[in-house]
Amino acid sequence: MISKKWNFVVMMAAVFALAGCASTSTTSTGGASSSPASSTAASSAPSTAKPAGGSSVLDEIKSRGKLVIGVKYDTKLFGLKNPTGGEVEGFDVDMAKALAKEILGDEKKIELKEVTSKTRIPMLDNKEIDMIVATMTITEERKKQVEFSDVYFKAGQSLLVKKGSSIKTVADVKKGTKVLAVKGATSVANIKAKAPEATVLEFDNYQDAFSALKAGQGDTLTTDNAILYGMMAQDPNFVVVGEPFTDEPYGIAMKKGETALQTAVNDSLKKLQSSGEYAKIYKKWIGETPSK
Ligand code: GLU
Repeated sequence: MISKKWNFVVMMAAVFALAGCASTSTTSTGGASSSPASSTAASSAPSTAKPAGGSSVLDEIKSRGKLVIGVKYDTKLFGLKNPTGGEVEGFDVDMAKALAKEILGDEKKIELKEVTSKTRIPMLDNKEIDMIVATMTITEERKKQVEFSDVYFKAGQSLLVKKGSSIKTVADVKKGTKVLAVKGATSVANIKAKAPEATVLEFDNYQDAFSALKAGQGDTLTTDNAILYGMMAQDPNFVVVGEPFTDEPYGIAMKKGETALQTAVNDSLKKLQSSGEYAKIYKKWIGETPSK
């Protein structure tokens, strides 16, 4: 749960228009072009060949009776491992549980595995996880590698600085400014495009990047505002500055070609939206859901 003040800041800064999230289709192009190349070979191949139509991961999930989902363990509000109890908690974790309930009838039929921004696509490719629910922006580049669900959260990239910093907006990030970011995140290329002269230092995860900021190893940390607000809640000496300078629509990622699973996930998102479950999860972690 986060403070009222935080909610207000988020609403003002990010203009989350989430009420219509599940109706925003971002996958029609990526999905349509993704029928697996194996479908023609399958007719002449032995029975071990992947079934045509890309339904194998959904079939596996159903027969094993469990969804294996990659979530962040380092990102407060979305997926953070509680250092005391050891549970992993956040908006993405609750979304993952809600998907298990929709697809398998029980939110406990789930296994969470830790992913970072850098490891999430390789872990999906290696079949270590069925899907990624981990603050992942839908991009054209990533659509070449994975299938995405419809948008389930909208963020935008911002900056976190120590209170009193001379950096007030992205225009203040210049030559000599040390910017901290995380490997595998869209934030790295985005800040390099906005501030090509700045020095960007990349870390393996968000808690390491935040520790480096606290230790004075950089002037600012950049990633999605929603993630930065979580850090602000962890240490009030730090503050999010400036308007978001990118759009970061989050999608659930699945292995390329798994269009049956993609449909099941999108259907589930629509149901979570219409049942009010999505709004409940949103309110618990982020704040009031804006009206349509
Ligand atoms: N949403 C951005 C991304 O997908 C930044 C957050 C993250 O690193 O997961 O890259």
